[in-house]
Amino acid sequence: MANRLSITPAERVFQCPNCKETISTSAQQCRFCYIQIDRRLAEAAADLMDELNQACSEAADVSSMLSDFGVYGWLVAIVISRPTKGIRWLVRFGAIRSEDPGFVDARRHVLHVVWVSAIVYVLLILFVLASVLGWSGS
Ligand SMILES: [Zn+2]
Repeated sequence: MANRLSITPAERVFQCPNCKETISTSAQQCRFCYIQIDRRLAEAAADLMDELNQACSEAADVSSMLSDFGVYGWLVAIVISRPTKGIRWLVRFGAIRSEDPGFVDARRHVLHVVWVSAIVYVLLILFVLASVLGWSGS
């Protein structure tokens, strides 16, 4: 027989709605403030917490790639990778409403990346137009 202990699912945690301490979803009451815990709300809160953690780590990934690639890789990162990842992040996590400071930071960070990318695109388009139409100082 397989050892059942080894397949016990990892304990999930969430933030107590009352005292904001991190507690287990399997608890019947908060071990800090002793409020009763609704199991369904606890699981939903744990889902949200997982989602926020995921959002924060992916937000870090949006801009973690500039150092190693030289000029060409840097350009690819600015023009393609970052905006793609940034927009994908917004599609996936943009609808989340949370005051979690880590998440608020992550969202601000991603929006910054997307805005900078949008500006780079506008400048590129203007530059191409200027070249095509011969506006460059003739
Ligand atoms: Zn509590």
